[in-house]
Amino acid sequence: MEFTKHNMDRRRWLLLAGSGLVAGLMPRIGWTDGDAESSASNVVFKLAETGLVGKVVVVGGGMAGATAAKYLRLWGGSGLSVTLVEPAAAYTSNIMSNLVLNGGRNINTLSFNYGALSANYGVAVKHAALTSIDTAGRQILLSDGSTLPYDRLVLAPGVEFEDAYGLTQSDYESKTPHAWRAGAQTLLLRDQLAAMPANGTFVLTIPKAPYRCPPGPYERACLVADYLKTFKGAGSRVIVLDENAGIQAGVESFTRALNVIHAGVLSYHPGVSGIAIDATSKTVSYVDKSGAPQALSANVINPIAPHRAAGSAAGGWLAAAGLANGSGGRWALVNVLSYESTARPGVHVIGDASQCGMPKAGHVANQEAKICADAVIRLLAGGQPDPQPVANSACYSPITASSASWLTAVYQYDPASSSMKIAANGGGIVNASATEAAEISTRNFEQMNVWFSTLMSDSFT
Ligand SMILES: Cc1cc2nc3c(=O)[nH]c(=O)nc-3n(C[C@H](O)[C@H](O)[C@H](O)COP(=O)(O)OP(=O)(O)OC[C@H]3O[C@@H](n4cnc5c(N)ncnc54)[C@H](O)[C@@H]3O)c2cc1C
Repeated sequence: MEFTKHNMDRRRWLLLAGSGLVAGLMPRIGWTDGDAESSASNVVFKLAETGLVGKVVVVGGGMAGATAAKYLRLWGGSGLSVTLVEPAAAYTSNIMSNLVLNGGRNINTLSFNYGALSANYGVAVKHAALTSIDTAGRQILLSDGSTLPYDRLVLAPGVEFEDAYGLTQSDYESKTPHAWRAGAQTLLLRDQLAAMPANGTFVLTIPKAPYRCPPGPYERACLVADYLKTFKGAGSRVIVLDENAGIQAGVESFTRALNVIHAGVLSYHPGVSGIAIDATSKTVSYVDKSGAPQALSANVINPIAPHRAAGSAAGGWLAAAGLANGSGGRWALVNVLSYESTARPGVHVIGDASQCGMPKAGHVANQEAKICADAVIRLLAGGQPDPQPVANSACYSPITASSASWLTAVYQYDPASSSMKIAANGGGIVNASATEAAEISTRNFEQMNVWFSTLMSDSFT
């Protein structure tokens, strides 16, 4: 018998959908350079009539926001109105964007539109930016001058980048791209890399944690080293200046990658401070971990600038609404049972913008979105959030053009600290470590592509 959702019991379907296991059965993913909007409309869910009525506005159509909008409708049913507010016509995935730098992927393969969310689940998509929140009146103001009322507001705006190391936003856009939000800067960095001379120098800087995607900078350093030694000569150099005391994730894999696989090309300097960059002369000065001042010149500089929750800078909309109450006013503190702000009732913050104890990662953002969607539905129905949420994190890191490593962890709620902690095998014991791949392999690279398309299907279709 053909396996479709029409011949499945609804409850079973919803359980599978929640686990992400049916991603392979979902309609084809929404590439923007193809026919996704029409193909997505081939499959329309008959949403449950749960009796729940309410208005939820989700702001930000990235990994967290797209997933939340979908699951609010899927689990909340046809009476729950869900509006997704996102300025861009399509989302460009950061995940896999390091592979654009070495030509391993075309950036178009990282583009996902919102057609399936509206066609399949009836999510109303509004292309505008949120500019302010009236938390007392429970409405938001948008860049087109319109307002949207809400019963519950879910914010998933990601991050914004600081002017750092003497650089401005204009420097990032035209001379020294951070490329830590995929898009035009990814292409600029790719082109700069391709134009490097033989045996040139590439400098990458890593900001103090927390930053988005803990293994991401080390992954990028490896891919750039692999590209340079393949195409620009074994005398090429990748110099990594890390403001942290050591590698932030995947320590065993990256130690091997830095010291063995890319030895001679890649040099790693942890514990640096006082980084200053001249975007025009392409010079970098810093203080090394022994306290000695250092200077070097480079062909390409890739500063991963420090970042914070979008809207959290002084005068920003998140700060103005009193929601940027996490460390140093940089993130939004939330109750991890519901992702409701600890400062403003009725407002939930998910994804990289929140301070929740789990890593700032796309896979985690997808998980936070589902916990939040479930909690919002329970709260609107007069109940309480699930008291024992569990989330998982999985991250594959390419190490060369054809090999990869991975890292995974299961997080569960720890009532003693009211936080999410890593669970040991099967749960029960909190504060174990994440598990790393035993080897860096081509098989991992193949599985990485399956993981990525499954995750993106679960979030956008
Ligand atoms: C190079 C790189 C590689 C990565 N690799 C991985 C990986 O392998 N695995 C992994 O799990 N994670 C990875 N990540 C991290 C992952 O991309 C982020 O953690 C994830 O995108 C966070 O999701 P988010 O929804 O919080 O933010 P985003 O995905 O950035 O989405 C935020 C959205 O909000 C919108 N927005 C912003 N402001 C407003 C506003 N005022 N009004 C309306 N909308 C607004 C934006 O346009 C955007 O669409 C990587 C990141 C990078 C940079």
